[in-house]
Amino acid sequence: MKINENFNNLKASYLFRDIAQKVNAYKSANPAANVIRLGIGDVTLPLAGAVVEAMLKATAELGIAQTFRGYDDGGVGYDFLRDAIAGYYAAKGVTLGTDEIVVSDGAKSDLGNILGIFAAGSTALIPDPVYPAYVDTNTMDGNKIVFMNGFADNGFLPMPTDGLTGDIIYLCSPNNPTGAVYTREQLKTWVDYANKIGAVILFDAAYEAFITDETLPRSIFEIDGARTCAIEICSLSKLAGFTGVRAGYTIVPKELERGGASLLALWRRRQTTKFNGVSYITQRGAEAVFSPEGLTQCRANIAYYLENAKIIGGVLDKLGIRYFGGENAPYIWLQAPDNRDSWEYFDYLLNEKNIVGTPGSGFGANGAGYLRLTAFGSRENVLEAVTRLQA
Ligand code: PLP
Repeated sequence: MKINENFNNLKASYLFRDIAQKVNAYKSANPAANVIRLGIGDVTLPLAGAVVEAMLKATAELGIAQTFRGYDDGGVGYDFLRDAIAGYYAAKGVTLGTDEIVVSDGAKSDLGNILGIFAAGSTALIPDPVYPAYVDTNTMDGNKIVFMNGFADNGFLPMPTDGLTGDIIYLCSPNNPTGAVYTREQLKTWVDYANKIGAVILFDAAYEAFITDETLPRSIFEIDGARTCAIEICSLSKLAGFTGVRAGYTIVPKELERGGASLLALWRRRQTTKFNGVSYITQRGAEAVFSPEGLTQCRANIAYYLENAKIIGGVLDKLGIRYFGGENAPYIWLQAPDNRDSWEYFDYLLNEKNIVGTPGSGFGANGAGYLRLTAFGSRENVLEAVTRLQA
């Protein structure tokens, strides 16, 4: 057999391995040190009570003949969950058909799998810096990648430029790692641009639940014209702490057509052929996320993380350290003082302050000189970390 040679083009990612090695080496040399991890992108607070209750109930149902369930018919998600998601969008002012929502085991799977409906060799426009999965999935499929530069001057929010052209446009808002959020006007520019050139926007809304500023869009479908050019990929990972439970969904509007085909029909066909659905227990838990009680509990967790971000941002303000994000996002993207590079500043924080961040260079060439801090830690750790930063 022949292997997929595109795998040879993947850049080895040693980011988290190198971080772990450095942290372990420091800890072995300094066993008494209280090293605080402000680099992790995973949630830490437990699931909402309403979710746990719903999942326990669903588990019990599976143990009774009358309520037992096998395959989720078609594997695109039970109606009860897709209706609940449609209700969540209706509250944002977005009307969706239940059949436009396809449930999955998370955004990462959908981000990779969606490429199956695009021609091999497509051109992907990818922001830099950004969540690394976009680059790797396109590399595996042999697609052409054109980077769109994010830097301090554009607030890490790249916009269409003259001559920019491609088939797939990735937008991640709020952005991982920078925490930057597109405004309505900026997204409108992107939507008009995509409609003009016939490209499709893949809008990664994984962090939408962190947007508290009501003037900022939480879905691409809040923007006029998006239904003919955009697909939204979202997840319960950050909204509801489902990083381990696993549930997400992708929205493909009925009007979205390319090459005479409905992209919704292609995506549903792809999913029903290669995926057999998310467990009933998980889907009942996910349904509970969107109940009034579930949303109140999940939002309390998000408020906790946002307060962490505010505390970190407040101290950086006092110290005169430039940063992006920290509001409407769980990420604080700080510029290493004194023109230090990402790893130099990482080492300084680890060795002098016993704080672990994530070097920005791991998220793309434009991340050089930056460091990502996250708000997902405990309040106690955040307070201790900012005390050290201030000292
Ligand atoms: N998209 C972005 C921007 C992310 O940062 C992450 C995870 O950190 C994901 C998608 C993946 O989310 P999921 O847990 O739903 O696979």
